[in-house]
Amino acid sequence: MMKLDAVIIDIDGTLTHSEDIVRLPHGAKFCDLPQDVKDSYYSKVHEHAVQPDCVEVVWKFLTATPKLIYLTGRDEIRGCVDVRFLTLQWLKKHGFPPATLVMRPYGEDGESHVVKRYLVEQMELKGNILAIDDEDKNLQMFHELGFVTMKSPYCWKRLSGII
Ligand SMILES: [Mg+2]
Repeated sequence: MMKLDAVIIDIDGTLTHSEDIVRLPHGAKFCDLPQDVKDSYYSKVHEHAVQPDCVEVVWKFLTATPKLIYLTGRDEIRGCVDVRFLTLQWLKKHGFPPATLVMRPYGEDGESHVVKRYLVEQMELKGNILAIDDEDKNLQMFHELGFVTMKSPYCWKRLSGII
């Protein structure tokens, strides 16, 4: 496998299978959902199912990169829900390797690709970077930053066969 300077992995819809928890109307964005729907989503983040094949692939990335980053548009804290704690618990429960978890800063309610771009630029990453995400706008943004991109969840099965 090629050496990568960093691998950035989204969580919702990439590592999680969240359709049982919230089903977005066609074309709707999570940030536009009513407050009570968003709150109920956040209070259940530890219940999400895991996408097939991704755990083993994420472990294999550790041999290819010194820097593995989970990057999510989830808030750190939502109401009285400690989303960071629940997210870390979920990752551990499903056997993902420990890595940096970068989340939406408190009070930031911009669209996912805007917030993620800002967060990634703060990291000042250099070299060969792979970004995996399920949203086209995020993939487009990563592409503009010069990263190699892969669309989840479809990439997991393919990657599990080749790395
Ligand atoms: Mg996602």
